[in-house]
Amino acid sequence: MSKKLESKVALITGAGSGMGRAMCLEFAREGARIIAVDLNLDSAKRVESELGGGDACLALAGDVSNSKSVADFCGQALDATGRVDILVNNAGILDNYASVTDTSEELWDRIIGVNLKGMFLVCRALLPAMVERRSGVIINLGSIAGFVAGGGGAAYTSSKHGVIGFTRQLAFDYGKLGVRANAICPGAVETGMTKDILASGDMAVIESIRSVPAGRHAQPEEIAKLGLYLASDDSSFVHGAAMLIDGGWTIK
Ligand code: NAD
Repeated sequence: MSKKLESKVALITGAGSGMGRAMCLEFAREGARIIAVDLNLDSAKRVESELGGGDACLALAGDVSNSKSVADFCGQALDATGRVDILVNNAGILDNYASVTDTSEELWDRIIGVNLKGMFLVCRALLPAMVERRSGVIINLGSIAGFVAGGGGAAYTSSKHGVIGFTRQLAFDYGKLGVRANAICPGAVETGMTKDILASGDMAVIESIRSVPAGRHAQPEEIAKLGLYLASDDSSFVHGAAMLIDGGWTIK
């Protein structure tokens, strides 16, 4: 049986951990050549090793919130592979919960800078070549925090609401030019970002997770399956969607 992403090149940000890593492995299994970008180069290198290096995966250091760094890693990626067919804007950060009045300007800028401005910078760098080829797929990592207020705090919630608007605008502007853009909006997933919270034994956290219809949190591999669907031609008619994959969190 042919693989779903045969001969495709996928650039994944925040690739060294959690859902980014899971998507690297899932996409590679389906034939994609991976460019694994992470602020933490060691973690991206570990993914590169897991995939055997060589043509299978190239690890690059990169900070999505810094336009110079974005230009550097996108340039290196295009030099190495000639094109990027699939872009997964996955890099993201969360900090301690803070309401608006508890949010410093530094915290606001840092979270919006990575979670929202970061995907703008990477899209701006890679879209021209996709448009020229009239072909490309963009997947942005949103969150249930793009639908409901709560756990993430003011900056995180705002960034993830922004991801949905940004994704819709991408789909509106570039769909007719051959580029499909969609967002994945997970609920609680066990990753580097959440492992301490999930392991804390905090009853409020345990209760909020038990109370979702699925009765549990997710593993990153479950989210990577939706990533594969959106990256492949199986989702050829899906444009501008913000797909919840939250165990039912948002219907409560
Ligand atoms: P994670 O912390 O396990 O992985 C995030 C990766 O991004 C890390 O390897 C980190 O080094 C990298 N990174 C951080 N800042 C970066 C930057 N400026 N440039 C490049 N790389 C950077 O987190 P995760 O849970 O796998 O999160 C992935 C995405 O999913 C994020 O956008 C997050 O907001 C979103 N999300 C997570 C959950 C969850 O429950 N874990 C739920 C909903 C949405």
